[in-house]
Amino acid sequence: MPTMSRSGRAFAFLRPGQRLPAIFVIGILLPGITLAVFSIRALLQERRLADQEIRERLDRVAKLAIRELDLELARWQREVEELAGSGLLVDLADTASPAAESLPETIREVFDAPAASVIVFRNGDDLGAYPPGRLLYGPTAPYRARAPEVQPRGLAEAEHAETVEKDYARAIGLYGHLLGQAAPRHRALLLHRLARTSKKAGLRDQAIRYYRELDQGDASLVGSLPFALIAKYELCVLWEEQGASSELATGARELYENLVAGRWPLEKSRYMFYSEQARDWLADSSAVSAESDPAQLEPLRSIELQKLALSEAAAEFLGRPRTPMERRRTLIAAGDRVNLALWNAEPLVALILSADFVEDRLWEPLVRDVGNSDFHFALQRLNGEIVFGDAPPGDLDLPLIRDLTGIGLPLSLQVWPSGNSTMLADLARRQSVYLAMLLLVVALLAFGSYITVHTVRQEVEVARLKSQFVSTVSHEFRSPLTGIRQLAEMLSRGRVKDEEKRQAYYQMIVRESSRLTRLVENVLDFSRIEEARVEYRLEPLEAGPWLRQAVREFQEEIADTGVAVVAEIPDELPFVRGDREALSCAVHNLLDNAVKYSADSDTVWLQARSIDGKLTVRVRDRGVGIPEGDQKHVFEKFFRGTGDGSAEVKGVGLGLSLVQHIVDAHGGSIGLASEPGVGSTFTIELPVDRAAPPRRSEPPAEG
Ligand code: ADP
Repeated sequence: MPTMSRSGRAFAFLRPGQRLPAIFVIGILLPGITLAVFSIRALLQERRLADQEIRERLDRVAKLAIRELDLELARWQREVEELAGSGLLVDLADTASPAAESLPETIREVFDAPAASVIVFRNGDDLGAYPPGRLLYGPTAPYRARAPEVQPRGLAEAEHAETVEKDYARAIGLYGHLLGQAAPRHRALLLHRLARTSKKAGLRDQAIRYYRELDQGDASLVGSLPFALIAKYELCVLWEEQGASSELATGARELYENLVAGRWPLEKSRYMFYSEQARDWLADSSAVSAESDPAQLEPLRSIELQKLALSEAAAEFLGRPRTPMERRRTLIAAGDRVNLALWNAEPLVALILSADFVEDRLWEPLVRDVGNSDFHFALQRLNGEIVFGDAPPGDLDLPLIRDLTGIGLPLSLQVWPSGNSTMLADLARRQSVYLAMLLLVVALLAFGSYITVHTVRQEVEVARLKSQFVSTVSHEFRSPLTGIRQLAEMLSRGRVKDEEKRQAYYQMIVRESSRLTRLVENVLDFSRIEEARVEYRLEPLEAGPWLRQAVREFQEEIADTGVAVVAEIPDELPFVRGDREALSCAVHNLLDNAVKYSADSDTVWLQARSIDGKLTVRVRDRGVGIPEGDQKHVFEKFFRGTGDGSAEVKGVGLGLSLVQHIVDAHGGSIGLASEPGVGSTFTIELPVDRAAPPRRSEPPAEG
């Protein structure tokens, strides 16, 4: 019993052409699609997991950042509390030149930046600020126009003369007299009155002298009024009136430097007034003095602006009701940024940090240490306004927002991975692996489909050609066999009396049977080739004699058709290495085709040449020619031409495929040039056998 393959049995109900597609669908397509669907699902799943992982990491980082921030603030707060408990500040405030050494370490470090932070504290009934000069106005009580408790005797009379009677000469006399016998603590007051009255009396030079003396007087002379400020300001006014621009430049610069140094505690409006005046004078005199050069003033102005911001923050902080909250951390808005106050309630001590300082000392180290270039941070108010850091890119769906109210700050922290973070790179890598796998599956599917479709089409075509071949071959056999039988019958029954006719019939029988033999040989050769059983016996073959003999045999075969073969075979042809029989068969097939496909012409040509180390054999006819579309198929097995005049010619479509196989096996090539209605030329090229013995002479071919 013949064995049958499993798939053969499983798909037995299908026709042969349907089996492969069925196997393809069940064996490749369905599993492929399933695999693709799973890959896509895995890809999506991976994305979800990765998103979750990123969120978790962002969450961890956010928590870490918040904890770090909390710890850092707590550290400073502890020191503020310590400071409040120590009473040190009051001492420092009272000292003429306070030393910072005794301050807690962290706080000392806070003061390194010249205008970044300040401590404000309650000092008895007043407010103090440390280090001195950081605040340009408030919160320390401005000079109340506190006159010395005991006024010099006679002052009232002099002031009456100055302000009521407007008798300046008398007033100057009285003030001068008082100055002559005044106690040191009253000198500043009297100098001020003298200068003021002199100015009123139009005695500018004298006024300038008194103001200078007042300005240069040592600090102990200056009572509780900012006489030095008044003196410096008035001097500038007088110099301006006099048009003394170089003195004005120096004076205004000095006034401005003192203002920015925070030498005089003032109210905000007064500070602003003096500062603006001083800057106006400096701007006006910038042409005459290098001191008032705007470029030189720039650093001073920038410190002033920082100190103003700090003063504003302090005022804002102090102006607010302070409930004894658990966490004494207060944000103070400053434009689109925030200052920060860390404070102790009782006694009140507040460390006020400017936005710049918070950014430099708190925010940036946090971003650097915790973010570690893998994460970006932004700090924002609860209304979403960014305070520190940059806004996350809009297309990002990942930023994570965490509230800071838990650590006493009405802010929130945004965290998102930076574009070049290793985490995202990892994710991208994993995803591209999945994607590559998916693409591979799709590519395999496409390739498998293509191969299957291609193979099925080929199989169907071969099946069609085979059945066509069987019917053609049977047909080809039938007519010569019928002819032979009829002739043999006639001869055997002795019906042909004429000897000449009998001879002709015998020859016809021989020719027909040799045609049959050739046909059978072609079919056998073909089947041997198909089964790869063919073996060629290669030997040195002298081209001239071999070709002449092949042509001769062919001519004998077609002797009664009246077709002539014009052969051009030179004597000087080289040797080739080949199987004589096979090569003769190839030449025969070409000649046979040439005759078959040129019914209207009675000549075919064969031309042999030795060109460039190759033997070229060209077979030409003036027959029907081959349409362009057929030309690339004529060497395929079972192919039969479709062109005019070729369909009615007998043939099985094997001749040229055999020729091609033989030529290939000899390392040669075959070419075709043809034009329908004009004719065809087939050209065989065979490599010359260089190792062959020298050519011997041969009688020329007859034909
Ligand atoms: P067959 O001649 O038996 O059909 P071949 O393989 O020898 O098979 O030739 C294949 C096809 O090539 C032929 O059917 C014919 O259409 C075309 N052909 C071959 N030789 C010629 C020729 N000399 N002139 C015109 N057509 C040709």
